[in-house]
Amino acid sequence: MFTNVPAPLPDECLRSYGYRVFEENKRPIKMTRNLLQDLHRASRLSIDHLVRHHTHLGYFRFVSEKYFDQEISRHPDLHTNRMINAGLTPSRTANYCPKCIEEDCDFHGLSYWRRSHQLPGVNHCSKHSVSLYMVDPECLIRCQPSQTKKFSGRRHAIPLSERDIYFNSKLIQRFTTLSETALDQTTSIKQDNITAVFHARYKQISTGDFNIFTSDSLENLPTSWRLHLSKRTTSYDAMLGSLVRLINSAQAPYRTQQYLLIMAMLWENPDEALNECISKLNCNEDSYCSSAAKDALEDVLRGASITSACRKHGVLIKDFDRALQNFLRHRNDLTNMMAS
Ligand SMILES: [Zn+2]
Repeated sequence: MFTNVPAPLPDECLRSYGYRVFEENKRPIKMTRNLLQDLHRASRLSIDHLVRHHTHLGYFRFVSEKYFDQEISRHPDLHTNRMINAGLTPSRTANYCPKCIEEDCDFHGLSYWRRSHQLPGVNHCSKHSVSLYMVDPECLIRCQPSQTKKFSGRRHAIPLSERDIYFNSKLIQRFTTLSETALDQTTSIKQDNITAVFHARYKQISTGDFNIFTSDSLENLPTSWRLHLSKRTTSYDAMLGSLVRLINSAQAPYRTQQYLLIMAMLWENPDEALNECISKLNCNEDSYCSSAAKDALEDVLRGASITSACRKHGVLIKDFDRALQNFLRHRNDLTNMMAS
């Protein structure tokens, strides 16, 4: 099928690699519906290797209810190629570093698209500390990054006026470290568990008048950075609201970048944040009970209404119901034990 097959380059996106292989063999990449399998056969590299080192699947499923504790090699996308064929990257744009391109052209004789430059909210190259360029995601299968000047719409990921605040922000530095770690994650963290850890940490550090979500740490960050993180929640208040809901409910929607942002806000040390969240990996279903839902349940047992208790602690009814079922199950176990 292919006579000339170059090797993939370090951290190269699968679609970037696919573009180079198809181009080399004078075949349009759009012909394939199974890019992963085609490249596996052409390169003789294992699917596992290609997935771990050249796709964003680890990042996409960093926090997951469905694939919790499952190896990345069990992801259904390996069969459907949905994310890969749709050209999805987490940031939904194609980004590159101008200095990496210069080095790659000198060293490899060509330029290519890196996975670590496609992470939402990581708008700089962590090797060169410069703003990335952003272009249409279709460029990933149309050209090398060094050839994007001919396409309109190229722009800096960090506007000139926001660079000082961006590069001086410790929160963004922590967020970058966490995002790059999530990229290489091979098993996911369970959504329920991570939310319970967040809630406990949030309560621990939000003492007295101090509340991390009403502090100005997020408000003072560049507007464009917030936009890159969440396209739908553009305002500061809307973003805060969605973060608080994420902390208080195990049923929040799955978006890796928002979980990473909360970790960067609640812990000064990214390693500590990861260790705290991953140490809960072995929690089983029976031991689960969201901390916020437990607090709401305690209020109800003291006489509060379910609606007011859930509203006070920011808990969804289905999370409350889960905590109640858990409580009743343990109470019945105790009753049976005492009767026997
Ligand atoms: Zn660079």
